[in-house]
Amino acid sequence: MRRKRLFWQLFPTFIIMVLISLIAVTWFASASYKSFFINQSKYDLIARTYLIKDKFSQLVIDTESATIDSICKALGNKSSTRITVIAPSGKVLGDTEEDPATMDNHNDRPEVIEAKNEGAGSSIRYSHTLKQDMLYVALPMNLPEGRTASIRTSISLASIGDALWSINTKIIIGGLVIAGIMILVSLYMSRRISVPLEEIRRGAVRFATGDFSQKIPVYDSLEFGMLADSMNQMAEELDTRIKAIIRQRNEQEAVLASMVEGVLAVDMDERVIGHNRAARELLGISAESSEGKTLHEVVRNIDLQRFVARVLATRESAEEEIVLRDAGEKYIQVHGTVLRDAHGHSIGALVVLNDVTRLHRLEAVRRDFVANVSHELKTPVTSIKGFVETLLEGAVNEPESAKRFLEVISRQADRLHAIIEDLLTLSRMEQDYGRTKISLRLEPLNAVLKSAIQVCELKAQESNIRIKISCPEDIRAKINAPLLEQAIINLIDNAIKYSEPESVIGVSGARENGEVVIRVTDRGSGIAREHLPRLFERFYLVDKARSRKLGGTGLGLAIVKHISQAHGGYPKVESIPGKGSTFSIHLPVVE
Ligand code: ADP
Repeated sequence: MRRKRLFWQLFPTFIIMVLISLIAVTWFASASYKSFFINQSKYDLIARTYLIKDKFSQLVIDTESATIDSICKALGNKSSTRITVIAPSGKVLGDTEEDPATMDNHNDRPEVIEAKNEGAGSSIRYSHTLKQDMLYVALPMNLPEGRTASIRTSISLASIGDALWSINTKIIIGGLVIAGIMILVSLYMSRRISVPLEEIRRGAVRFATGDFSQKIPVYDSLEFGMLADSMNQMAEELDTRIKAIIRQRNEQEAVLASMVEGVLAVDMDERVIGHNRAARELLGISAESSEGKTLHEVVRNIDLQRFVARVLATRESAEEEIVLRDAGEKYIQVHGTVLRDAHGHSIGALVVLNDVTRLHRLEAVRRDFVANVSHELKTPVTSIKGFVETLLEGAVNEPESAKRFLEVISRQADRLHAIIEDLLTLSRMEQDYGRTKISLRLEPLNAVLKSAIQVCELKAQESNIRIKISCPEDIRAKINAPLLEQAIINLIDNAIKYSEPESVIGVSGARENGEVVIRVTDRGSGIAREHLPRLFERFYLVDKARSRKLGGTGLGLAIVKHISQAHGGYPKVESIPGKGSTFSIHLPVVE
C-alpha cells in the first residue's frame, strides 16, 4: 500500500471542511437574504398600495377607464411600480405598462384571488409581458353594491437579484479569504504535528542503527513530549545495556583469544557456535567459513566429530587424545563438557583442545635418549667387560695379546669418557641456561674463531686438510668466548671427520641481515635431506657405524645447539650430499 504523508492526509480534510462550510454559509445566507428582501419588498409594496388604494377605488366608481389607465401610467412611472387596476369582472381598467384593452381577464391571477379571499395577496411570477421575475401584491377595493374591484402593484425582482448577487459575491470573497486563512492555519497545524513526528521517526532510526549520541528534542506538546521522553529513556537504557554486553563480549573474547588452548563450541545440532583463535589455528579453519555450519562441514577429522557426538549424546564430560593429520602430525588432547544455559538445560558442547605434540615429541626424545644413552654406554662397557674377562681367564699371561686387549680397553674407556664428558657438558649447559643465564661479554669474533681453529689444527694436519678463516676484525658479538669456542670446535671437528683428506674447510664470521653469522663449510660427504631436521638432537647419528668409528658420540651438534641458544641465537645446517655441508651459528647483533 502506498503510504501518504500525514500532511497530505490532514490537509485535504481541512480543505474539504472549509469548502463545505463555505458553501453552506453562502447558500444559507443567500436564502435568508432573499426571503428577507422579498418580504421587505412585499410589505413595502402592500404599504404603498394601501396609500393609493382609496384614491383608485374612488376613481373606479366615478371615472372612465381611460382616466384610470393614464393615472396608472403616470403614477407608476414616477414610483417605478407597475400599477394595475382590475374591475370586479376581472377586466383591466388601467395598467402602467400595457394597454388595458389588450390585456386578458385578471381575476384568475393568484394574488387577485388571494386578495379577494383574505384581504391581501401576493405572488412571485415570471411576467411574460415584461419578461422578468415580478413580485405582485393585490388588495381588494370594496365598491358600492357589494362589488369588489382589485388594485395590483408589482415591482421587478431584478433589483433584488442584483442586491443578492452583490451580497453573495461579498460572502464568497469573505469565505475565500477565510478559506485562505484556514489553509494557512491547517498547513501550520499539520506541520506542527508532522515535524515533531518526523523528528521522532529520525531519532528512532538513529537509535535502531545503534547511534545513541543524539537525543530526540522534547516538545512542548504533552503527547509528543512524553513520547520523545520515553524514547530517549529507552535509548539511554539500550545504550547502557549494549555497552555492558559489548564490554562483556570483549572481555570474553580477550580471555578466549589469549588462551593457548583451543576452544570450540557447538550446539545440540552440532552447529559451530564459536571458536577462539587457537582452535582456528589448530583445526585450520577460518572465522567466516565456519559461520552457521555443522562440525562435519568445518572439521574433517572423524575422531573429533565422533568425540563431540559422544559428549552430546551422553551429556557427560569426556577426555581423549586425537591426531590431526592435515598439516603434519598434531597430537591434540581434547576435553569435552556439556554446555548448559541459565536453567541448566543442555544447549551444546564445549571442547577444549590442547596441543600436546611438543610433549609427545619431548617424550619420544626422552625415550630415545634413555635408550641411546644406555646403548651408547653399553657398547664400550660390554667390550671392556669382555676383554677384562678374557684377560682374567689367562690372556693376561700372553704379553702380546694382553697389550692388544688393554689397548682396546683403553680406547673403549676413552669413548666412555668422551660420552660422559659430552653428557656432562650438555647437562651443565641445560642447567645454566635453564636457571641463571650464562655471562656474555662483547668481544671480537675473530679471536674466538682463530683459537678454535688452533685446537683443531693438529687433527686437520693429520689428513692434510687446510682450514681457511675469513672474518673482519671489527665484528664483535656478545658472547661467552670459551663456550662459543667449544661449539665452533665441534663444528670444525665434524667437518674434518667427514671430509676427504687434502680438502679445504672454511671458517667465516660475518654480519648479515641483523645477525652475526659464523659458518663452517666443508666439501665432505654431505648429509641427506631427511636427516637435517633432526641433526641437532642428542645421539642422532646419520651413519651410526661410520660415526662411531670416527669417535662420534652423536652429542656434538646437540651441544652446538645449546650453546647457540644460550647466546640468544640458533644453529642452522645446509647440505648437499656428495658436495659438502655448511653449519652456521646465528647470533643476535648488539649495537
Ligand atoms: P658426532 O659426535 O657423531 O660427530 P654430532 O652430533 O656432532 O655427533 O653429529 C651428528 C651426525 O651428523 C653425525 O653422525 C654425522 O653423521 C653428521 N654430521 C655432522 N657434521 C657433519 C659434516 N660436517 N658432514 C657430514 N655429516 C656430518
